[in-house]
Amino acid sequence: MYLFSTLTKKLNIVWLKRDLRTSDHEPFFHAENHENDYIAIYIFEPKLLSHPDSSLRHQQFIYHSILDMNTSLQPFNRHIHIFYANADEVFSCLTKVHSVTKVFSYQESGIKVSWERDKQVAEILKNNSVEWSEFENQSVKRGVNHRVGWDKDWYLYAHSECIQNTFSKSQLSIEKSPFDFDIKKHPDLEYYPKNYQPAGQSFAVKYLNSFLDERGKNYSRHISSPQKSRVSCSRLSTYLAWGNISVRKVFQKVKNAPNYKSHKRSFDACLARLKWRSHFIQKFETDCNYELVCINKGYEKMVYDNNDSFLQKWKEGKTGFPLVDASMRCLINNGWINFRMRAMLVSFLCHHLNQDWRRGVYHIAQLFLDYEPGIHFTQFQMQAGVTGINSIRIYNPVKQSIEKDPDGEFIKKWVLELRELDAPFIHRPWEMTPIDLLSKGIKLDYPAPIVEPIKAVKTSRSQLWSLRKDPLVKEESKKLLRIHVRPSVKKSRK
Ligand SMILES: Cc1cc2nc3c(=O)[nH]c(=O)nc-3n(C[C@H](O)[C@H](O)[C@H](O)COP(=O)(O)OP(=O)(O)OC[C@H]3O[C@@H](n4cnc5c(N)ncnc54)[C@H](O)[C@@H]3O)c2cc1C
Repeated sequence: MYLFSTLTKKLNIVWLKRDLRTSDHEPFFHAENHENDYIAIYIFEPKLLSHPDSSLRHQQFIYHSILDMNTSLQPFNRHIHIFYANADEVFSCLTKVHSVTKVFSYQESGIKVSWERDKQVAEILKNNSVEWSEFENQSVKRGVNHRVGWDKDWYLYAHSECIQNTFSKSQLSIEKSPFDFDIKKHPDLEYYPKNYQPAGQSFAVKYLNSFLDERGKNYSRHISSPQKSRVSCSRLSTYLAWGNISVRKVFQKVKNAPNYKSHKRSFDACLARLKWRSHFIQKFETDCNYELVCINKGYEKMVYDNNDSFLQKWKEGKTGFPLVDASMRCLINNGWINFRMRAMLVSFLCHHLNQDWRRGVYHIAQLFLDYEPGIHFTQFQMQAGVTGINSIRIYNPVKQSIEKDPDGEFIKKWVLELRELDAPFIHRPWEMTPIDLLSKGIKLDYPAPIVEPIKAVKTSRSQLWSLRKDPLVKEESKKLLRIHVRPSVKKSRK
């Protein structure tokens, strides 16, 4: 059965993963410069979709990003072919039916399941004499065994010229394929909730421009405020996570913005974080087991209560701590909160509720519209205190509330039961006496705090600190300062 009718017999493939854009795109560039015509594909893979980090909102964002790409590609008789099958099945079939010469894609620093999938695909392509060109993504290196020169290379990448992609008219006519993705069978994906950031490269550019023109001037001042940061932060994480825009394009637009000098402090702080982004992904590229085990193996000795009822209350935003609950409910609603609230949610889970980080990590991954494994698992472990090389931070949720949401603006928006309260009670509603409530005419329908904050962290704090002296923790910490080697797909294809 033919999937695509070609005038010339040979065919190349651009395999899209977390790079859903048509500009500054290396695989498209090389496909365009090759003598064969090509198809661009995206694969919704049941094996990955059933993994606990995946969620409907990610798929909705992906699908709508692809629709946006299709608008740009339409004049060239091109669009992204969406398949619904595991990648090994798709490539086995495509290479059997067509004379495929090359596959172009970016390297993916994904979870173990996608890494295993990549190795399987590499094997299939090798057996069919298809060359797979995998391009380095945002200067994250594969198979390196040292950090020497990493910063310099990152800046070289960040300053290097963006690719101006151009597209030729495709000569391919499309036939049916056994793996075609049928949107009618996935009506949930057709719908895109209004409360999520709009998907696609055109919105990525709009968000970037509005950040530079107006929103970014208060970036540094408001970065830790759960409410104000919603405007003053770039809000580019979701676009970067799914590749609607490249890191270097953001870097160059910020660095060369006409108002860069006036907002230097804020803009530089944002640029620094772009580098952190690649840095975290580089760590995960080196060892994707960080999804499953403590970065510092010595911390596997931690003993947790793992109380199911506490966990459930945390997941639903019903812990009785206003800022914790507001943050979780906000995330459930729209998929984004600022860094400080993310850190506080994890700290509260692991230190106050004494839960193993693995019990909450997928819940949050599913909620984040900007879920990026390389940042997520490493940051989550850092906030859980199990890396051994970062300082241990335990956030007091009441103190955070007083400092970062002094008037309770954010809390009132998300915890409707508290909207009648003002400071100081909005931060500690449990301190209101029946007389206070009566005098204000308030009937409080909000849970009492599930733990006593100061007492609750004692167990976790003492374990974390005593483990710092543990020989295994010390040994692991030393090891972590050297980079581990993750064998490259290329190497395993030899
Ligand atoms: C527990 C935890 C989990 C996280 N998981 C993710 C995740 O899955 N995906 C994700 O993109 N970010 C994650 N972060 C990092 C950070 O919170 C978000 O990148 C940031 O809040 C996104 O908002 P923004 O785009 O407005 O960022 P800005 O502050 O405007 O920063 C610009 C860009 O720099 C990068 N960046 C910012 N802060 C960090 C950081 N601390 N570490 C690495 N890169 C950073 C992001 O790509 C961001 O878009 C996590 C943080 C914590 C504490």
